[in-house]
Amino acid sequence: MSGLILSGRELAATIRADTAERAAALTAAGTPPRLAVVVATDDASSAWYVRSISTAAVKAGIVCKVLDLGADAEVETIRATLADLSADNMVHGIVLQTPLPAGARLEDLAGAITVEKDVDGANPLSLGRLAAGLPAYPPATAAAVVAVLDHHEVELAGRRAVVVGRSTVVGKPVAHLLLDRHATVTVCHSRTPDLAAVTSTADILVAAAGRAGLVTADHVKRGAVVVDVGTNPTEDGGLVGDVDAEPVAEQAAGLTPVPGGVGPVTTALLLNHTVRAASTLA
Ligand code: NAD
Repeated sequence: MSGLILSGRELAATIRADTAERAAALTAAGTPPRLAVVVATDDASSAWYVRSISTAAVKAGIVCKVLDLGADAEVETIRATLADLSADNMVHGIVLQTPLPAGARLEDLAGAITVEKDVDGANPLSLGRLAAGLPAYPPATAAAVVAVLDHHEVELAGRRAVVVGRSTVVGKPVAHLLLDRHATVTVCHSRTPDLAAVTSTADILVAAAGRAGLVTADHVKRGAVVVDVGTNPTEDGGLVGDVDAEPVAEQAAGLTPVPGGVGPVTTALLLNHTVRAASTLA
């Protein structure tokens, strides 16, 4: 499959259809699924993302409530809001949008999201459960990486996977999910010397650094499968990934595009996690 573009759009549509079917059944049974998105920023790209989640939720039959606490919200106000939502029987999924006000950390605040409603895997307990092989919702982006690979029938067991990026929302959970699928996993980060020497050993390379053009053809083994998680805005209002797409696509067996790869699957899975949470909690 030389140079295949591994789109996420078809998979996202399939997941959306499953979500809508589950949401309709829940609503018919008297429990319409509800997602709460807590916002404490005036960041423009965050606002765009929240709008796209709300629109997709409504289309799927999920009630989506955005709680905008303002960019100067106090840490304790955010924590109390998350605790209230965790205790609210009418709410099934909770997302805390980033960025957060100065002094507030996602890893710290997300502890107030009960694990059963932590549909974007932000509570450190969810990551711990994932690492221990216990049920938990992975961050939707991390789950989307594996879902795209599965959709395109990329074998994971026994393959050498390299993840570039070690954040708690993408790099670390992706590494755990790939380990769980029996890949041999290496995680690289900003202090990894000679990145290309490591990445070029990968059968499966996941780029999640947030650095446009970081992964060039020199970083990729011929025949590898490359998943580009990066979303870097360009000056002309576009979006590029971390991968130098054209030369890498020629070298690789397959490459996920940006946009249209991991992104649409991420949103679709976040909503799918929400209806699953609603079914479990109902
Ligand atoms: P982050 O800034 O929290 O983490 C980046 C990681 O990359 C860090 O671990 C850092 O050590 C590593 N890194 C940075 N520069 C590097 C370099 N030169 N060499 C090797 N490693 C390097 O970012 P994040 O939240 O993990 O997001 C990563 C990217 O994924 C961003 O572009 C973000 O926008 C994107 N993202 C996409 C989606 C989606 O749905 N497609 C969702 C979430 C994040």
